[in-house]
Amino acid sequence: MATVRFYGGVGVIGSSKILIEQGGWRVLLDFGLDFSPGTGLFRGAVGPRPGHELSDRLKTQMAPRIPFLYRPELMGAVGDLPSGTDGRTAVFITHAHIDHIGLAGDIDPRIPIWASADTARIMNALKSSQELQGPWPELQVMAAETPVSFGPFRVVRYDVDHDIVGASGYGVETEDGVVAFSGDLRLHGRHPEKTWHFAQKVQGARALVMEGTTLSFGFQEAVRTEGQVDRDFARIVGMTPGLVLATVYPRNIERVAVFMQVAEDLHREFLWPRPMARFFQAMGLKAEVWDADRLEGVNKHPERYIMQLSPPDWPMMLDLPLGPGAAFIHANGEPLGAFDPHWTLLQDWLAALHTGFWPIGTGGHASPDGIRQLLETIRPDILFPLHSREPDRMLPPPGTARWLPEKNRVYDLSLNES
Ligand SMILES: [Zn+2]
Repeated sequence: MATVRFYGGVGVIGSSKILIEQGGWRVLLDFGLDFSPGTGLFRGAVGPRPGHELSDRLKTQMAPRIPFLYRPELMGAVGDLPSGTDGRTAVFITHAHIDHIGLAGDIDPRIPIWASADTARIMNALKSSQELQGPWPELQVMAAETPVSFGPFRVVRYDVDHDIVGASGYGVETEDGVVAFSGDLRLHGRHPEKTWHFAQKVQGARALVMEGTTLSFGFQEAVRTEGQVDRDFARIVGMTPGLVLATVYPRNIERVAVFMQVAEDLHREFLWPRPMARFFQAMGLKAEVWDADRLEGVNKHPERYIMQLSPPDWPMMLDLPLGPGAAFIHANGEPLGAFDPHWTLLQDWLAALHTGFWPIGTGGHASPDGIRQLLETIRPDILFPLHSREPDRMLPPPGTARWLPEKNRVYDLSLNES
Protein backbone atom coordinates (compact mmCIF):
# COMPACT_ATOMS: atom_id res chain seq x y z
CA MET A 1 0.00 0.00 0.00
CA ALA A 2 1.24 3.47 -0.89
CA THR A 3 0.14 6.61 0.89
CA VAL A 4 0.37 10.29 0.12
CA ARG A 5 0.46 13.10 2.62
CA PHE A 6 0.47 16.87 2.12
CA TYR A 7 2.64 19.01 4.37
CA GLY A 8 2.06 22.23 2.44
CA GLY A 9 0.26 23.82 -0.48
CA VAL A 10 -3.11 23.07 1.14
CA GLY A 11 -5.38 26.07 0.62
CA VAL A 12 -2.36 28.25 -0.17
CA ILE A 13 -0.35 29.10 -3.24
CA GLY A 14 3.11 27.64 -2.82
CA SER A 15 4.90 25.83 0.01
CA SER A 16 4.29 22.52 -1.78
CA LYS A 17 5.48 19.42 0.09
CA ILE A 18 4.11 16.02 -0.85
CA LEU A 19 5.28 12.86 0.88
CA ILE A 20 4.68 9.49 -0.78
CA GLU A 21 5.37 6.46 1.43
CA GLN A 22 5.51 2.74 0.78
CA GLY A 23 6.98 0.02 3.00
CA GLY A 24 8.95 2.53 5.06
CA TRP A 25 10.48 4.21 2.00
CA ARG A 26 9.72 7.84 1.30
CA VAL A 27 9.71 10.14 -1.70
CA LEU A 28 9.27 13.83 -0.96
CA LEU A 29 8.14 16.03 -3.85
CA ASP A 30 9.15 19.69 -3.40
CA PHE A 31 10.14 21.38 -0.20
CA GLY A 32 9.05 24.97 -0.51
CA LEU A 33 8.96 27.93 1.75
CA ASP A 34 5.67 29.49 2.72
CA PHE A 35 5.77 32.71 0.76
CA SER A 36 2.81 34.94 1.58
CA PRO A 37 4.00 38.50 2.18
CA GLY A 38 1.92 40.36 4.72
CA THR A 39 0.67 37.27 6.56
CA GLY A 40 1.88 35.02 9.40
CA LEU A 41 3.94 35.67 12.51
CA PHE A 42 7.01 36.59 10.52
CA ARG A 43 6.21 39.62 8.40
CA GLY A 44 7.32 43.18 7.88
CA ALA A 45 10.38 43.81 10.04
CA VAL A 46 9.93 40.54 11.97
CA GLY A 47 11.69 37.52 10.50
CA PRO A 48 13.06 34.24 11.87
CA ARG A 49 16.18 34.82 13.95
CA PRO A 50 19.47 34.48 12.05
CA GLY A 51 20.94 31.09 12.90
CA HIS A 52 17.57 29.86 14.22
CA GLU A 53 15.57 30.04 11.00
CA LEU A 54 14.63 26.37 10.91
CA SER A 55 13.74 25.99 14.58
CA ASP A 56 11.75 29.24 14.50
CA ARG A 57 9.85 27.95 11.49
CA LEU A 58 9.27 24.54 13.05
CA LYS A 59 7.89 26.14 16.21
CA THR A 60 5.49 28.32 14.21
CA GLN A 61 4.30 25.55 11.85
CA MET A 62 6.05 27.23 8.92
CA ALA A 63 8.22 24.16 8.40
CA PRO A 64 6.71 20.65 8.65
CA ARG A 65 7.57 18.27 11.44
CA ILE A 66 8.89 15.44 9.25
CA PRO A 67 11.20 13.04 11.13
CA PHE A 68 14.61 12.02 9.71
CA LEU A 69 14.85 14.84 7.19
CA TYR A 70 16.59 17.91 8.62
CA ARG A 71 20.24 18.73 9.22
CA PRO A 72 20.75 17.96 12.94
CA GLU A 73 22.82 21.10 13.52
CA LEU A 74 19.91 23.36 12.53
CA MET A 75 17.36 21.88 14.88
CA GLY A 76 18.21 24.11 17.85
CA ALA A 77 15.80 23.55 20.73
CA VAL A 78 13.41 21.38 18.70
CA GLY A 79 14.78 18.26 20.34
CA ASP A 80 11.77 15.96 20.11
CA LEU A 81 11.88 15.65 16.32
CA PRO A 82 14.42 13.07 15.07
CA SER A 83 16.71 14.62 12.47
CA GLY A 84 19.39 13.28 10.12
CA THR A 85 18.58 10.55 7.65
CA ASP A 86 16.85 7.17 7.78
CA GLY A 87 18.58 6.17 4.52
CA ARG A 88 15.22 5.53 2.89
CA THR A 89 14.20 9.04 1.85
CA ALA A 90 14.78 10.89 -1.41
CA VAL A 91 13.64 14.36 -2.48
CA PHE A 92 12.62 15.51 -5.95
CA ILE A 93 12.26 19.22 -6.74
CA THR A 94 10.03 20.56 -9.55
CA HIS A 95 11.66 23.97 -10.04
CA ALA A 96 13.78 26.73 -8.55
CA HIS A 97 11.01 28.97 -7.21
CA ILE A 98 11.30 29.64 -3.51
CA ASP A 99 7.85 28.20 -2.71
CA HIS A 100 9.03 24.85 -4.13
CA ILE A 101 12.70 24.68 -3.13
CA GLY A 102 13.07 27.28 -0.35
CA LEU A 103 13.47 24.82 2.54
CA ALA A 104 15.64 22.30 0.66
CA GLY A 105 18.84 23.73 2.15
CA ASP A 106 17.66 22.52 5.58
CA ILE A 107 17.59 18.89 4.41
CA ASP A 108 20.31 16.58 5.71
CA PRO A 109 22.97 16.49 2.96
CA ARG A 110 23.06 12.67 3.02
CA ILE A 111 19.52 12.68 1.59
CA PRO A 112 19.62 12.91 -2.21
CA ILE A 113 17.82 15.89 -3.74
CA TRP A 114 17.08 15.45 -7.44
CA ALA A 115 16.20 18.16 -9.97
CA SER A 116 16.64 19.14 -13.61
CA ALA A 117 19.96 20.42 -14.94
CA ASP A 118 18.53 23.93 -15.43
CA THR A 119 17.22 24.00 -11.86
CA ALA A 120 20.71 23.12 -10.62
CA ARG A 121 22.19 25.77 -12.91
CA ILE A 122 19.89 28.49 -11.53
CA MET A 123 20.59 27.49 -7.93
CA ASN A 124 24.35 27.49 -8.55
CA ALA A 125 24.15 30.90 -10.26
CA LEU A 126 22.14 32.31 -7.34
CA LYS A 127 24.58 30.90 -4.83
CA SER A 128 27.62 32.32 -6.60
CA SER A 129 26.08 35.73 -7.34
CA GLN A 130 24.07 36.71 -4.28
CA GLU A 131 26.32 35.94 -1.31
CA LEU A 132 23.33 34.32 0.37
CA GLN A 133 23.68 33.19 3.95
CA GLY A 134 22.51 29.89 5.33
CA PRO A 135 22.55 26.28 4.18
CA TRP A 136 22.22 25.59 0.48
CA PRO A 137 20.97 22.39 -1.19
CA GLU A 138 23.32 20.30 -3.33
CA LEU A 139 21.21 19.10 -6.24
CA GLN A 140 21.68 15.89 -8.20
CA VAL A 141 20.85 16.28 -11.84
CA MET A 142 18.19 14.06 -13.32
CA ALA A 143 17.57 13.82 -17.06
CA ALA A 144 14.03 14.04 -18.41
CA GLU A 145 12.27 10.70 -18.85
CA THR A 146 15.17 8.66 -17.52
CA PRO A 147 13.71 6.92 -14.46
CA VAL A 148 15.50 6.97 -11.12
CA SER A 149 14.82 3.90 -8.99
CA PHE A 150 14.67 4.44 -5.27
CA GLY A 151 13.60 1.65 -2.90
CA PRO A 152 10.29 0.36 -4.27
CA PHE A 153 9.72 3.52 -6.32
CA ARG A 154 10.54 4.46 -9.87
CA VAL A 155 10.53 8.21 -10.37
CA VAL A 156 10.34 9.86 -13.78
CA ARG A 157 10.90 13.55 -14.38
CA TYR A 158 9.21 15.36 -17.27
CA ASP A 159 9.94 18.85 -18.60
CA VAL A 160 6.97 21.22 -18.35
CA ASP A 161 6.55 24.90 -19.21
CA HIS A 162 6.48 27.47 -16.39
CA ASP A 163 7.91 30.97 -15.96
CA ILE A 164 11.31 29.58 -15.07
CA VAL A 165 13.56 27.27 -17.08
CA GLY A 166 14.02 23.70 -15.89
CA ALA A 167 10.48 23.30 -14.55
CA SER A 168 9.41 19.69 -14.10
CA GLY A 169 6.46 17.46 -13.41
CA TYR A 170 6.97 13.99 -11.90
CA GLY A 171 5.47 10.55 -12.14
CA VAL A 172 6.18 8.28 -9.16
CA GLU A 173 5.44 4.60 -9.74
CA THR A 174 4.09 2.93 -6.59
CA GLU A 175 2.49 -0.46 -6.03
CA ASP A 176 -0.90 1.26 -6.32
CA GLY A 177 -0.05 2.97 -9.60
CA VAL A 178 1.52 6.24 -10.68
CA VAL A 179 1.29 9.34 -8.54
CA ALA A 180 1.75 12.31 -10.87
CA PHE A 181 2.63 15.79 -9.68
CA SER A 182 2.22 18.80 -11.98
CA GLY A 183 4.59 21.13 -10.16
CA ASP A 184 3.74 24.55 -11.60
CA LEU A 185 2.87 24.55 -15.28
CA ARG A 186 1.03 26.39 -18.02
CA LEU A 187 -0.08 26.21 -21.64
CA HIS A 188 0.44 29.87 -22.63
CA GLY A 189 4.23 30.04 -22.32
CA ARG A 190 7.08 29.50 -24.77
CA HIS A 191 6.96 25.67 -24.67
CA PRO A 192 3.34 24.46 -24.33
CA GLU A 193 4.35 21.20 -26.05
CA LYS A 194 6.34 20.21 -22.95
CA THR A 195 3.30 20.56 -20.70
CA TRP A 196 1.16 18.59 -23.15
CA HIS A 197 3.77 15.85 -23.36
CA PHE A 198 3.79 15.50 -19.56
CA ALA A 199 -0.02 15.30 -19.55
CA GLN A 200 0.03 12.55 -22.15
CA LYS A 201 2.76 10.59 -20.36
CA VAL A 202 0.90 10.49 -17.03
CA GLN A 203 -2.46 9.79 -18.63
CA GLY A 204 -4.56 7.43 -16.50
CA ALA A 205 -2.41 7.92 -13.39
CA ARG A 206 -3.69 6.48 -10.12
CA ALA A 207 -3.48 9.95 -8.60
CA LEU A 208 -2.70 13.42 -9.91
CA VAL A 209 -1.62 16.26 -7.66
CA MET A 210 -2.49 19.34 -9.69
CA GLU A 211 -1.68 22.98 -9.08
CA GLY A 212 -4.66 25.36 -9.15
CA THR A 213 -3.06 28.76 -8.64
CA THR A 214 -5.35 30.63 -11.02
CA LEU A 215 -8.45 29.27 -9.30
CA SER A 216 -7.69 31.74 -6.50
CA PHE A 217 -8.75 35.39 -6.18
CA GLY A 218 -11.86 34.88 -8.35
CA PHE A 219 -9.62 34.70 -11.44
CA GLN A 220 -11.20 36.43 -14.43
CA GLU A 221 -8.53 37.97 -16.65
CA ALA A 222 -7.85 36.67 -20.12
CA VAL A 223 -4.51 34.90 -20.30
CA ARG A 224 -1.69 36.63 -22.13
CA THR A 225 1.05 34.62 -23.78
CA GLU A 226 4.78 35.17 -23.24
CA GLY A 227 4.87 36.29 -26.89
CA GLN A 228 2.37 39.05 -26.13
CA VAL A 229 4.45 40.15 -23.15
CA ASP A 230 7.54 40.41 -25.38
CA ARG A 231 5.64 42.40 -28.01
CA ASP A 232 4.06 44.76 -25.43
CA PHE A 233 7.44 45.42 -23.92
CA ALA A 234 8.91 46.35 -27.31
CA ARG A 235 5.85 48.47 -28.15
CA ILE A 236 5.84 50.47 -24.91
CA VAL A 237 9.60 51.00 -24.86
CA GLY A 238 9.36 52.08 -28.52
CA MET A 239 6.73 54.73 -27.85
CA THR A 240 8.27 56.10 -24.64
CA PRO A 241 10.30 59.25 -25.31
CA GLY A 242 12.05 59.26 -21.93
CA LEU A 243 13.35 56.85 -19.32
CA VAL A 244 11.83 53.40 -18.96
CA LEU A 245 11.77 51.71 -15.58
CA ALA A 246 10.94 48.03 -15.67
CA THR A 247 10.54 45.20 -13.23
CA VAL A 248 10.95 41.64 -14.44
CA TYR A 249 11.41 38.54 -12.29
CA PRO A 250 15.10 37.60 -12.63
CA ARG A 251 14.58 33.82 -12.56
CA ASN A 252 12.41 34.10 -15.70
CA ILE A 253 15.69 34.08 -17.58
CA GLU A 254 14.13 33.49 -21.00
CA ARG A 255 12.09 36.68 -20.66
CA VAL A 256 15.10 38.59 -19.34
CA ALA A 257 17.09 37.55 -22.42
CA VAL A 258 14.31 38.73 -24.75
CA PHE A 259 13.97 42.07 -22.91
CA MET A 260 17.74 42.60 -23.16
CA GLN A 261 17.51 42.00 -26.90
CA VAL A 262 14.58 44.44 -27.22
CA ALA A 263 16.64 47.06 -25.38
CA GLU A 264 19.56 46.53 -27.73
CA ASP A 265 17.33 46.68 -30.83
CA LEU A 266 15.85 49.97 -29.60
CA HIS A 267 19.29 51.40 -28.78
CA ARG A 268 18.81 51.44 -25.04
CA GLU A 269 21.08 50.14 -22.35
CA PHE A 270 19.39 47.97 -19.70
CA LEU A 271 20.80 48.70 -16.24
CA TRP A 272 20.22 46.26 -13.37
CA PRO A 273 20.70 46.12 -9.60
CA ARG A 274 24.10 44.59 -8.88
CA PRO A 275 22.95 41.21 -7.44
CA MET A 276 20.67 40.68 -10.45
CA ALA A 277 23.41 41.59 -12.91
CA ARG A 278 25.71 39.09 -11.20
CA PHE A 279 23.05 36.38 -11.42
CA PHE A 280 22.50 37.08 -15.14
CA GLN A 281 26.24 36.98 -15.76
CA ALA A 282 26.43 33.63 -13.96
CA MET A 283 23.64 32.43 -16.29
CA GLY A 284 25.71 33.46 -19.31
CA LEU A 285 24.04 36.79 -20.17
CA LYS A 286 25.72 40.16 -20.51
CA ALA A 287 24.28 42.54 -17.93
CA GLU A 288 25.16 46.11 -16.92
CA VAL A 289 24.83 47.47 -13.40
CA TRP A 290 23.47 50.88 -12.50
CA ASP A 291 25.41 52.81 -9.90
CA ALA A 292 25.95 56.43 -8.91
CA ASP A 293 28.33 56.96 -11.86
CA ARG A 294 25.66 56.07 -14.36
CA LEU A 295 23.04 58.53 -13.11
CA GLU A 296 24.50 61.54 -14.87
CA GLY A 297 24.26 59.76 -18.20
CA VAL A 298 20.71 58.63 -17.46
CA ASN A 299 19.67 62.19 -16.63
CA LYS A 300 21.30 63.58 -19.76
CA HIS A 301 19.91 60.94 -22.12
CA PRO A 302 16.99 59.17 -20.46
CA GLU A 303 15.85 57.88 -23.88
CA ARG A 304 18.93 55.66 -24.00
CA TYR A 305 18.18 53.64 -20.87
CA ILE A 306 15.95 51.07 -19.21
CA MET A 307 16.46 50.51 -15.49
CA GLN A 308 15.23 47.99 -12.99
CA LEU A 309 15.02 49.15 -9.37
CA SER A 310 14.44 46.95 -6.33
CA PRO A 311 11.95 48.36 -3.78
CA PRO A 312 14.68 49.60 -1.39
CA ASP A 313 16.04 51.69 -4.31
CA TRP A 314 12.74 53.40 -5.08
CA PRO A 315 13.72 56.69 -3.39
CA MET A 316 16.28 56.94 -6.19
CA MET A 317 13.34 57.77 -8.44
CA LEU A 318 13.51 61.24 -6.87
CA ASP A 319 16.81 61.78 -8.71
CA LEU A 320 15.71 60.30 -12.03
CA PRO A 321 14.10 62.09 -14.99
CA LEU A 322 10.59 60.72 -14.46
CA GLY A 323 7.27 62.32 -15.38
CA PRO A 324 4.85 62.10 -18.31
CA GLY A 325 7.59 61.19 -20.83
CA ALA A 326 8.74 58.21 -18.78
CA ALA A 327 7.12 54.83 -18.18
CA PHE A 328 7.18 52.08 -15.56
CA ILE A 329 6.64 48.64 -17.09
CA HIS A 330 5.64 45.85 -14.72
CA ALA A 331 6.47 42.40 -16.07
CA ASN A 332 6.10 40.17 -12.98
CA GLY A 333 9.11 41.49 -11.08
CA GLU A 334 8.95 42.89 -7.57
CA PRO A 335 6.41 43.73 -6.22
CA LEU A 336 5.07 40.43 -7.49
CA GLY A 337 1.37 41.29 -7.42
CA ALA A 338 -1.51 43.02 -5.72
CA PHE A 339 -1.14 40.62 -2.74
CA ASP A 340 2.21 42.26 -1.94
CA PRO A 341 1.92 45.35 0.33
CA HIS A 342 4.57 47.01 -1.87
CA TRP A 343 2.15 46.97 -4.81
CA THR A 344 0.07 49.96 -3.64
CA LEU A 345 3.24 51.63 -2.38
CA LEU A 346 4.64 51.51 -5.92
CA GLN A 347 1.42 53.05 -7.27
CA ASP A 348 1.80 55.86 -4.70
CA TRP A 349 5.38 56.54 -5.79
CA LEU A 350 4.48 56.60 -9.47
CA ALA A 351 1.46 58.85 -8.86
CA ALA A 352 3.63 61.27 -6.91
CA LEU A 353 6.13 61.33 -9.79
CA HIS A 354 3.45 61.54 -12.53
CA THR A 355 4.76 58.43 -14.22
CA GLY A 356 2.56 55.95 -16.07
CA PHE A 357 2.31 52.31 -14.97
CA TRP A 358 2.05 49.54 -17.56
CA PRO A 359 1.36 46.06 -16.22
CA ILE A 360 2.16 43.76 -19.15
CA GLY A 361 3.12 40.52 -17.42
CA THR A 362 1.64 37.07 -17.55
CA GLY A 363 1.73 34.32 -14.96
CA GLY A 364 3.41 30.95 -14.88
CA HIS A 365 0.26 29.04 -14.13
CA ALA A 366 -2.32 27.40 -16.36
CA SER A 367 -5.59 29.32 -16.69
CA PRO A 368 -8.80 27.71 -15.40
CA ASP A 369 -9.50 26.59 -18.94
CA GLY A 370 -5.95 25.24 -19.30
CA ILE A 371 -6.35 23.29 -16.05
CA ARG A 372 -9.60 21.80 -17.36
CA GLN A 373 -7.95 20.76 -20.64
CA LEU A 374 -5.05 19.13 -18.81
CA LEU A 375 -7.35 17.27 -16.42
CA GLU A 376 -9.41 15.98 -19.33
CA THR A 377 -6.22 14.68 -20.94
CA ILE A 378 -4.75 13.08 -17.82
CA ARG A 379 -8.02 11.65 -16.38
CA PRO A 380 -6.50 10.20 -13.20
CA ASP A 381 -8.43 7.91 -10.85
CA ILE A 382 -7.95 10.44 -8.06
CA LEU A 383 -7.41 14.19 -8.30
CA PHE A 384 -5.77 16.12 -5.47
CA PRO A 385 -6.10 19.88 -6.13
CA LEU A 386 -3.16 21.72 -4.53
CA HIS A 387 -1.33 25.06 -4.54
CA SER A 388 -4.52 27.17 -4.68
CA ARG A 389 -6.47 29.45 -2.38
CA GLU A 390 -9.67 27.85 -3.61
CA PRO A 391 -8.86 24.20 -4.43
CA ASP A 392 -12.57 23.28 -4.35
CA ARG A 393 -12.97 25.23 -7.59
CA MET A 394 -10.91 22.57 -9.40
CA LEU A 395 -13.49 20.13 -10.74
CA PRO A 396 -12.54 16.60 -11.78
CA PRO A 397 -13.34 15.29 -15.25
CA PRO A 398 -16.01 12.56 -15.48
CA GLY A 399 -14.79 9.29 -13.96
CA THR A 400 -12.22 10.94 -11.68
CA ALA A 401 -12.69 11.09 -7.90
CA ARG A 402 -11.62 14.30 -6.23
CA TRP A 403 -9.99 14.13 -2.82
CA LEU A 404 -9.59 17.64 -1.37
CA PRO A 405 -6.34 17.42 0.58
CA GLU A 406 -6.24 18.18 4.27
CA LYS A 407 -2.88 19.08 5.72
CA ASN A 408 -1.02 16.19 7.42
CA ARG A 409 -3.75 13.63 6.69
CA VAL A 410 -2.57 10.27 5.28
CA TYR A 411 -4.32 9.15 2.08
CA ASP A 412 -4.23 5.45 1.28
CA LEU A 413 -4.00 5.07 -2.49
CA SER A 414 -5.16 1.42 -2.41
CA LEU A 415 -8.63 2.50 -1.29
CA ASN A 416 -11.40 3.90 -3.43
CA GLU A 417 -12.80 6.26 -0.79
CA SER A 418 -10.74 8.96 0.86
ZN1 LIG B 1 6.62 28.34 -9.62
